[in-house]
Amino acid sequence: MPHAPATTAIIGAGIAGLACGQALQAHGLPVRLFDKARGPGGRLSTRRLEHAAVDLGAQFFSVRDPAFRRQVATWREAGVVAPWPDSLWEASESGWHRYRDKVERLIGAPRMSAVSRRLAEGLTLATGIRIERLEPRGDDWWLIDQHGERHGPFARVVLALPSPQAQALLEPHEPSLATACEAVIQRPCWAAWACFEAPLPDLPEVDDDWQAVRLAPDPTRSPAEQPLRFVSRNDHKPGRHGQGESLSLLARLEWSEAHLERNAESVARRLLEAFRAQLPAGVTLPEPTSLGAHRWRYAQPDVFASGEAVNLDHRRSPNGLSLCGDGWRGPRVEDAWLSGHHLGEALAADAS
Ligand SMILES: Cc1cc2nc3c(=O)[nH]c(=O)nc-3n(C[C@H](O)[C@H](O)[C@H](O)COP(=O)(O)OP(=O)(O)OC[C@H]3O[C@@H](n4cnc5c(N)ncnc54)[C@H](O)[C@@H]3O)c2cc1C
Repeated sequence: MPHAPATTAIIGAGIAGLACGQALQAHGLPVRLFDKARGPGGRLSTRRLEHAAVDLGAQFFSVRDPAFRRQVATWREAGVVAPWPDSLWEASESGWHRYRDKVERLIGAPRMSAVSRRLAEGLTLATGIRIERLEPRGDDWWLIDQHGERHGPFARVVLALPSPQAQALLEPHEPSLATACEAVIQRPCWAAWACFEAPLPDLPEVDDDWQAVRLAPDPTRSPAEQPLRFVSRNDHKPGRHGQGESLSLLARLEWSEAHLERNAESVARRLLEAFRAQLPAGVTLPEPTSLGAHRWRYAQPDVFASGEAVNLDHRRSPNGLSLCGDGWRGPRVEDAWLSGHHLGEALAADAS
């Protein structure tokens, strides 16, 4: 009787882990995914508040690579992504100016997390499970979760995690991969939200339907002294009209590093204050009805290797452990998807 193909465990159901899972499954290889969060998506995160769904991770994504373009085309066809924003602004010392470039940006609809939910379809995923240890047994691997429960056996384990989290799991078993993880720095980022009872006041000479604004850095000051980098209006995103006015406010990485241990409420107040300071003279922002912030300890990779081919070899070990995630390619949703997709393809080729 032919053997059933061996199962691969994937720790982390962010976009990289999901893309890897889909690639393996497309080759007929069984996978089981584990994520410590309540749902898939990782940094493609949307928080559901009482009157609003606010994106606290990626705000949009762009497409450069042909394989990712093909994937995105299926999402577009299914209606889970849409172009956004079409009213993007930049605020600087000289005021607000429409920001135009040739990049097409897309967002999940009706929430950013729609993308990861779509990618998770058909995959076996256990949520609320934090994997704390790996245990080798003969040729197999077992995963031990936060309750001491064991999951396995698995022929292969993919760590689709921010590199510092992967490093901790790898250290006892695969020092060379753990060292590779150490070289990939993930920088932190604060992301806040503010909800309002009424729509924001119109801004003179700015489109009433403005959707997002980038805050240009002031070159005369250190970035660590400039809290805010990006603001989006959640109710001006596809599928969210009528949910009530709310803003997502993303901090600069340098400022986040300098204020990492600050409490969430004071961070949210500071980011909102920084936004107020960018409003044209005479415009008053109402008091928010809800305000809060999320700290991403590992938001954006700073150092990443160049060259996927070399990279893939360096993030697989002969004993069945391998790595994917944005840190192995670059700081974008597309990088995360590609790292997982290419790893899945490579593991499928190894298994054939
Ligand atoms: C604030 C912010 C703004 C961003 N803006 C943009 C943008 O505008 N455009 C863009 O393209 N990109 C943006 N990004 C980057 C983009 O979100 C990431 O590159 C991408 O989502 C990373 O996906 P990933 O799968 O590599 O990692 P993650 O999404 O971090 O997935 C890792 C998963 O592992 C899980 N996990 C961790 N440890 C364990 C464990 N021990 N056991 C089980 N599960 C575990 C986590 O819960 C998580 O779901 C932004 C990121 C942040 C934080």
